[in-house]
Amino acid sequence: MDAQTKNLIKFFLVPLLFATIAVWAAGWQRQPDFLLHVNFYDVGQGDSIFIQTFQGNQILIDGGPTDQVLQYLGEDMPFYDRTIDLLVLTHPHADHVAGFVDILRRYKVTKIILPEVDFHSQTYDEFLAEANDKGVELVYAKQGQRIYLDKATVFDVYYPYGQAAGGSFTEGFVSQASQDLNDTSIVGKLSFGKTSILFTGDAGINIESILLPQFNLDADLLKVGHHGSRHSTSVPFLEEVTPEFAVIEVGENNYGHPTQEVLDKLEQVGSQVFRTDQGQTIRFVSDGANLYKQ
Ligand SMILES: [Zn+2]
Repeated sequence: MDAQTKNLIKFFLVPLLFATIAVWAAGWQRQPDFLLHVNFYDVGQGDSIFIQTFQGNQILIDGGPTDQVLQYLGEDMPFYDRTIDLLVLTHPHADHVAGFVDILRRYKVTKIILPEVDFHSQTYDEFLAEANDKGVELVYAKQGQRIYLDKATVFDVYYPYGQAAGGSFTEGFVSQASQDLNDTSIVGKLSFGKTSILFTGDAGINIESILLPQFNLDADLLKVGHHGSRHSTSVPFLEEVTPEFAVIEVGENNYGHPTQEVLDKLEQVGSQVFRTDQGQTIRFVSDGANLYKQ
């Protein structure tokens, strides 16, 4: 090769090749299709919701009661994508946190948002230890936080209020509502363009009534609280949310979830109801103007 050819390769072809690979790899890694995807997984009795924002960021709200979520992520994420941008743990009960232990072992997680509660169980402690081990940033949910999921997608935290006085969830603000761990659940609204989804964890009716006068709860889709328990989803709450779609994350259980009472109320406000125990993953897509079922 003469010097001119060498220079051509060195200064033109090689950089061009690298640039091409970089763009190709970036495109492959995230595959954003400029739509918001929200997938409700059938993880049995528990919650697990996978979100991919229009810019391709990936978020999981709860991990379900087993490692089954890994199988779903295997279907919804490319095999070479081993990172998840954010985990939202609504509250530390096993039917919401257990799958996160396995997620933390298999994926590189950037950040976790969770309520600050003084609670211990084998599974929850394992989750905290794993997060600590991997150096994942923990952020405690606090009313009024706005979390940018990407440049155009936000998650506004409506509940809990934040750190309970004395470090125990049974004290301080949280206890004014209830001493039930379900009532420490992160409640918040995801907004993308004109479309919005309300996530409620397992929060009860008393939390709903605290939020009613404070926030515009109107949403296109409601993740129905507490697997369709009669202790969540009051009529005044539903009349504010008026969700076009309602998704109940539920599996085999001895609690009678979802209750006929809640199913009737959802019908009364004209919601189209989807249940995770009646099929596969329930997929919704938003282009920012409309949210629709896939
Ligand atoms: Zn639950």
